[in-house]
Formats: sequence, structure tokens, C-alpha cells
Amino acid sequence: MSQFFADDLLQWYRNNKRDLPWRNTDDPYKIWISEIMLQQTRVDTVIPYYHRFLEAFPTVHELAEASQQQVLKLWEGLGYYSRGRNLHQAAKMVSGQYNGQVPADYDEIRKLKGIGPYSAAAILSIAYNKQYAVVDGNVIRVFSRYFGIESDVRLQSTKNQVQQYADDMIPESHSGDFNQAVMELGATVCTPANPLCDSCPLSSGCVAYNSAKTDILPYKSKAKKIPHHEIAVGIIVNVQGELLIALRPNDVMLGGLWEFPGGKREKGETLKQTVARELREELGVEVNVHTMYHKLKHAYSHFKITLHAYWCSIASGDPKPVGSKEIKWVSLDDIHSYPFPKANKVLIDGFTELDPAKLKQLTGQ
Ligand code: SF4
Repeated sequence: MSQFFADDLLQWYRNNKRDLPWRNTDDPYKIWISEIMLQQTRVDTVIPYYHRFLEAFPTVHELAEASQQQVLKLWEGLGYYSRGRNLHQAAKMVSGQYNGQVPADYDEIRKLKGIGPYSAAAILSIAYNKQYAVVDGNVIRVFSRYFGIESDVRLQSTKNQVQQYADDMIPESHSGDFNQAVMELGATVCTPANPLCDSCPLSSGCVAYNSAKTDILPYKSKAKKIPHHEIAVGIIVNVQGELLIALRPNDVMLGGLWEFPGGKREKGETLKQTVARELREELGVEVNVHTMYHKLKHAYSHFKITLHAYWCSIASGDPKPVGSKEIKWVSLDDIHSYPFPKANKVLIDGFTELDPAKLKQLTGQ
């Protein structure tokens, strides 16, 4: 059965695959970049990032020699920033210890930061045609429908079962194409809602299709409710019309990115009280909290926030990086050269109408 499955799928893939930039190269470095960027991220979002990144760092040596800030600036807005930090660390290792060659051996490539079982299988199969099967959300959907797997796809045991099927089905030759074909089918034909079974090369052997279960498979238990936090931050302006930004430590979420200092609202606090408390704790200063500048909603993978940003000025004290790695006063022009998380970037993009004099007015200086 596996031979028919693979043959039909590969035939379909050759005729129907999308023309994506990382499919026009056999350079393992470029394939590696694409695989890291594509984790949890849509193809359309990745394409411009992929081009900009490779233009800045055409080889692994250039990436290895870049600063973390340069790397994160090019990653800005792509999310899951530990991917960028790990990629940078791994590039240093490939450049220094592997003579610039991405390892072609499973145990060796797994030594690189940020390369888990999925990325290792994807890179080794696509770049080196090694027989390692990948399992991601698209693969789980295709296999659970095709084989009629009825257990909860959130369970590790179900994922292991899918991995076993994928390992059994992947052919020795064209392993990279096979992996990409399953993922491509999941992305374009075997879609979560309304799969296009009539155009599917696997329909004759598909359990879900032949037993009219495509709308109930894959079975996924209800997701836990995502928590929501109210966040209040201060945009502190000094008499020169500069803004204070803080660098997040590397080992926390959004590590290595800059932000406006602030934090979570505590029970019973007004938003202005949150800003004053957070800036006292994070910077060791007392601030005057002025008018609200902006309010926006943002979703991360495990929680959602409403971000409230207030104009502030320092009432007393010298700001110190108590809760951050570093702090800086930056001008309205320079702020654009620093990497920020998406929600902060929205705040910064709104500064286009402002000049330093206007900023000082806003904070009564
Ligand atoms: S026949 Fe339908 S449900 Fe089965 S693999 Fe193809 S698209 Fe998915």
C-alpha cells in the first residue's frame, strides 16, 4: 500500500506544488532558514521575511558574524523570537565547527540550537534526501483522515501513531518531496474545513472520505480557554524629547527585543496605578502618568492581551535597568532601528505624526 500511496502523492505533488522560493534551491542553509521560519507561521507571511533575511545573510558565515540585534530586527513581526536567537547561535556553530556545512547526520544536526525532531527530519529529507518523515499539523490531518485514526490528535500517543505511519510510508528515494507533498496536500486539499476530496490523489484509499467522516476527523478535544491579561506600559519622554526603551533578557519570552516598560495590571489597580507601580519596580523611578496614547489587542500563542500605553515623564529618580538587561533613551528617528515585539511596533508606527516638541507637550514638559 505504501508504494501506491507514495507514487500517487508524488505524482500529484509534481503537477500541483506551489512555486515557493525555498523550493527553487538545494542549498541546505536556505532550506534550514525556511524550515525555521515556517514553524507555526503561514507561508504568505514567511516569504518576504525569507527574502529579506537571505539578502542580509546570503551564507551561514554572514549570519554567524551578525549581531543578535541585526538578526532580531529582520525577525521583527515574525513572532516566536527564540527561533531567531537559536538560529543565530546555531549559525555560529555551523560556521565555526562544521566549516559552514549544515550537518547531514541526524545526531549532528540535532546538536544545533533550535533543531528538534521535526526540523531535523525536514532539513535532512529536503536538503539531503534522507529518509526521515516529518509530522506537523498538516501531516496529522492527512494521516488521521486517510487511516481513520479516531483518537484525540492533541495526545502525544496519537502523534506517535501518525509518526509511525509516516515512517512506514516515506519512500527511500524522493523523501524530501514526499514530506513536502503530504504537507502541501494538507495545506491546499485536505484542509481543516471542506477538504477537496474530489481532487485528492488519495481519495480511493482514504478511510474518512469513504466512510463520510471528513468533518469529524481529525478528532480534537476542546482547547483550554486562553487567558487574557490587561497590560499597561509607560512611554517615558525626557526633556530632549527622547523615549525610554528597555531590553528584555534573552531567557524570557520575546527575549532580546526592546519594549516600553510596563506590565500586568493587578487586582484593584487602575491602569495608571499599574504603570506607576511597574515603572517603580522595573526602573526604580517615580513617574507622572499623563494621558493614554493608545490601546490595542494582541494575541500570543498561549494568551491574549489588551495593551494600554500612557505618556509618562519622570517625577523623581534616575532610571536603572532593574527589570531588564539594558535601558536606553532614543530619539524618534533612531527608535526604528531597534527590534520590538509586534504590539510595541504598532505603538511606534503611530509616532510618525510626532516631533520632539509635540512629545514634550504631551508630557507637560
Ligand atoms: S480524500 Fe479527502 S479527507 Fe482523504 S486525504 Fe484526501 S482530501 Fe483528505
